[in-house]
Amino acid sequence: MDDCIFCGIFAGRLPASMVYRDERCAAFMDIRPVTPGHLLVVPVRHAAYLAELDAEDGAQLFRVAQRLAAALRQSGVRCEGVNLFLADGEAAGQEVYHVHLHVLPRFRGDGFGLRFPPGYGHRPPRPELDEIAGRIKGVLSA
Ligand code: 5GP
Ligand code: ZN
Repeated sequence: MDDCIFCGIFAGRLPASMVYRDERCAAFMDIRPVTPGHLLVVPVRHAAYLAELDAEDGAQLFRVAQRLAAALRQSGVRCEGVNLFLADGEAAGQEVYHVHLHVLPRFRGDGFGLRFPPGYGHRPPRPELDEIAGRIKGVLSA
């Protein structure tokens, strides 16, 4: 993956401020942090999208993110809360096409937030929820 930034970091061609490394994944500082301490947990094996990610690599990303969240809270970095965030696909905000899990320290007044669409808060009728649930279950059991 010659043109992949994160593969370039793993190959030692690009610099990174490493925090953690094991056989499956690594964590390093995001180069444009949303808040100080913003980390990325990244599988070593290249996968552009979640659909290509080895399931055990995915499980390890979460395990490491959970440890990092705990470490952030004890590190002296301002961290009153944590968001884990993963953008899968351009429509979801993905900019680097090598899977990564953001670990974001949060604090009151940090200025970051998710924007909800107009009409958010409306509760759809149960049959509508059930219909969508049925579609997803159908795919799972196919
Ligand atoms: P995405 O929008 O794909 O979820 O997030 C990509 C993230 O990668 C962004 O937060 C961006 O700041 C970060 N990023 C982009 N290029 C580099 C880089 O060269 N090094 C590091 N450490 N982070 C990067
Ligand atoms: Zn890559």
